Amino acid sequence: MSLPFAEWLPAQRWFAGGGRELSTATAVSVIALRDGLDLMLVDAGYVDGTSERYQVLVSWEAEPAAEYAERARIGTAAGRTGFDAVYDPDAAQFLMTLIAASAGRGDVTFSAEPLVDLPVDEPPRVFGAEQSNSSVIFGRAAILKVFRRITPGINPDIELNRVLGRAGDPNVARLLGSYETRWGAEPCPLGMVTAFAPGSTEGWELASASARDPHGDFATDSYRLGAAVASVHRTLAEQLGSSTSAFPVETALSRLDSAAAVAADLTPFADRIRARFDALRDVPMTVQRIHGDLHLGQVLRTPDTWLVIDFEGEPGAPTTERRRPDSPLRDVAGMLRSYEYAAYQEGGTQRAREWADRNREAFCDGYTEAAGTDPRARADLLSAYELDKAVYEAGYEARYRPSWLSIPLRSIERLLE
Ligand code: ATP
Ligand code: MG
Repeated sequence: MSLPFAEWLPAQRWFAGGGRELSTATAVSVIALRDGLDLMLVDAGYVDGTSERYQVLVSWEAEPAAEYAERARIGTAAGRTGFDAVYDPDAAQFLMTLIAASAGRGDVTFSAEPLVDLPVDEPPRVFGAEQSNSSVIFGRAAILKVFRRITPGINPDIELNRVLGRAGDPNVARLLGSYETRWGAEPCPLGMVTAFAPGSTEGWELASASARDPHGDFATDSYRLGAAVASVHRTLAEQLGSSTSAFPVETALSRLDSAAAVAADLTPFADRIRARFDALRDVPMTVQRIHGDLHLGQVLRTPDTWLVIDFEGEPGAPTTERRRPDSPLRDVAGMLRSYEYAAYQEGGTQRAREWADRNREAFCDGYTEAAGTDPRARADLLSAYELDKAVYEAGYEARYRPSWLSIPLRSIERLLE
C-alpha cells in the first residue's frame, strides 16, 4: 500500500524541493492515529543526492469539502483513497483531542501544556495563507501548526513559546500544546498549538498602510510595539539567563562576502563595512535567547496589545545556530530595518524618511521605557546589527527583487556616515 507521493508532494505549496529532480518519495514510517487516519513520515530523495523528510497526515476515504477536493487528494493505495487530513475537520479535531489527552501513538508523543484548555469542540478550518507549514484554526480559540518539512532537534518556536507562556508573558500567543516523534537519538517536532488572537492584524500590513497614508500615524503603535518586544526580551533573559560575548564578527564578514558576490553595488562600501565589524571584535556585549528573525511581519496587533510570533529564528540557519544566544539588539535592528522597508517600498520621498525616523524613534522609546535600557545607547552595536541585516538584504534583493535593492543600499550609505 503505497500512495503516489512522488506526484502529490511537488504540487504542494510547502514542498521545498522545487528546482531539484525528485527520484523517490516513500513513507518510511506509518503511525495509525485511529482507524482511517495515519501519520506518515515521507522521505523525498533527489537525483542530486539530497533528501528531506515530510509529515503527511492521511485520512482514508474521507472526501473533503469540494473547494479542497483536488489539492487534498493524494491518490489511491490498495483500493482506498488517501486525502491530506488537514482538510478533514474530523481528523483535525481528533488530532486536537490527542494533544488535549497528552496521548501517545507509536513513536509519536502528544502533549498539552499544564493548566490550559484545548478547544476540542471548536470547528476546525484550514488557514488560507499556508507557507512552509499548514495551519488549522479552531473556532476563535486556537491555531494548530502542522510542520511539513521536519528536522531533528529542538524547535525554537515551541521551546521559546513554552518558556514565555509558562512565565505568563502577555506579548506572545500562549502555547497550548505540541506533538513530536523521535529521529534517531533526537526529538523531532511535528506540530504546535497556540492560542488564536481574534481580530488581530499583522504589523507589516498596519505599518505599510500608515506609511502610504499622508495622514498616517503609527507612532503610538510603534511605541507599544517597542515595549512588547522589550517585555519578551526581559522574560527570556529572566527565564533562560544571559551572559557576556562579542559581536559575531566572522558570521557577519562571511555574510558580507556572500552578498557582495551577487550584489556588485555593495563593492564600494565593503571595506568600510568590514572595518565596522572588525572594530567590534573585543567589545563585550550581553547575550541571551532572542527571537532571531524579528520584523513587522512577525508581530500581530490585537485589540488590546502586540504579540510577537514565530520564534523559529533565522530562516535557513541550522537549529544549533538558531538557538545560539545573541544580543537583543539583533531583534531591535530587525525591526528598525523593517520600518525602512515599510517606509520606502513606494519610493524614496522626504516623507518616507520622516515616517521611518518617527516610528523608529517611537519603537526605541517604547523599548527603553519597558526595558530600562536604551538600545540607542549602544549605537556601535545597533548599527552593526543593522548593517549586517542590510547587507543580507542587498544580496537577497540583487538576486530576487532588483527593484527593491535601493532600500538596503540607501540604508548602508546612511549607516556608514
Ligand atoms: P511564514 O512561513 O509565513 O512565516 P509560518 O508557518 O512560520 O508562516 P507564522 O509566521 O507563525 O507561520 O504565522 C503566519 C500567519 O498566521 C501570521 O502572519 C498570522 O496572520 C497568522 N497567525 C499565526 N499565529 C496566530 C495567532 N496566534 N493568532 C492569530 N493569527 C495567527
Ligand atoms: Mg512568519
